[in-house]
Amino acid sequence: QIIFIPREVAASEARVGASSDSVKRLVGLGFDVIVETGAGLGSRIADAEYAQAGATIGKASDAARADAVLKVRRPTEAELKGYKAGAAVLATMDPYGNEASVAAMARAGVTAFAMEFMPRITRAQVMDVLSSQANLAGYQAVIDATYEYDRALPMMMTAAGTVPAARVFVMGVGVAGLQAIATARRLGAVVTATDVRPAVKEQVQSLGAKFLAVEDEEFRAAETAGGYAREMSKEYQARQAALTAEHIAKQDIVITTALIPGRPAPRLIAADVVATMKPGSVIVDLAVERGGNVEGAVAGEVVTTANGVKIVGHLNVAGRVAASASLLYARNLYAFLETMVDKETKELAINREDELVKATMLTDAGRIVHPNFAGKVE
Ligand code: NAD
Repeated sequence: QIIFIPREVAASEARVGASSDSVKRLVGLGFDVIVETGAGLGSRIADAEYAQAGATIGKASDAARADAVLKVRRPTEAELKGYKAGAAVLATMDPYGNEASVAAMARAGVTAFAMEFMPRITRAQVMDVLSSQANLAGYQAVIDATYEYDRALPMMMTAAGTVPAARVFVMGVGVAGLQAIATARRLGAVVTATDVRPAVKEQVQSLGAKFLAVEDEEFRAAETAGGYAREMSKEYQARQAALTAEHIAKQDIVITTALIPGRPAPRLIAADVVATMKPGSVIVDLAVERGGNVEGAVAGEVVTTANGVKIVGHLNVAGRVAASASLLYARNLYAFLETMVDKETKELAINREDELVKATMLTDAGRIVHPNFAGKVE
């Protein structure tokens, strides 16, 4: 059977659905792998490297022969036209708010898997694209902040004088926030962090940063069974905002990463708080694509406020470290695909009763099958 790796059509997407390592593994499973020419260029993987790993270099129209397509973004309608009915398509599908695209995938007859719906259970950790990409986004947020910040992060004591250490505050300490803390610490910043989940406090401290939050009863009960944050009460949010506002005024760099599953991102920093920061301070809003944590953040832009604070709202932040992001993403896709391969026939044999398949499968055999979308569109 054939697996196809397309070149991503979105100009802003430098990542790719396979690495030379994952190609080698796919070939090892018994597949013929076709990589569209130039697919890896944005991630510094040359055609020759894929070829050496055992792939054939092809063109976009080779998608029509594929039994599975491994990609980064949801296929466009034009791409879908080129796929054969029954092909498995693995990608980050971003289906909420894009129900028409889900319907298009059903009409195309592909079996589409939304990788971001992978359950966060031990067996699926190696397939967790949210974690692999959020980790790099957290790292890159610090690099982006440092780039916009016109001073050094570490304290430097030199014969010519002392450069003070930068103060970095991380708001929201999930996968991205933890990596942001670790990265800022490695660069020598003085780091503080906040979150509404109490379990985070120890993790923050173990990374050598200080934890700051209103630690009342609501806070102690704020974690859901799945390990995610709840939306906090208006009262809690107000008290937390007052506490953090005072702190933010003294920071050089603030990185926000707060998300709540199924809800818009919580607003953590109001414009009047941004206005209290020193000129030249930098805020990076990693939640900007989900509505933003920071008032005044603009998706895809670096905004400078009237008082000289830069608010960074880059899109696809993991894609800004594309080579590293693709390496991990490709491994995530491979790991999931491998669970769907019959080891004897060496062919795809999707077990529709498997919990990973149930959680991620959006469309199958011409229908929308995911419970969150079935019956709502078509
Ligand atoms: P996320 O991206 O959903 O949210 C980022 C962070 O924002 C979270 O820590 C959340 O608590 C925080 N937040 C939400 N509202 C906030 C507010 N008002 N103020 C401050 N912070 C706020 O989170 P994530 O990175 O996906 O991680 C969520 C949890 O899942 C973590 O406990 C993580 O360790 C866990 N996790 C488990 C697995 C696994 O078991 N396989 C894999 C990845 C993550």
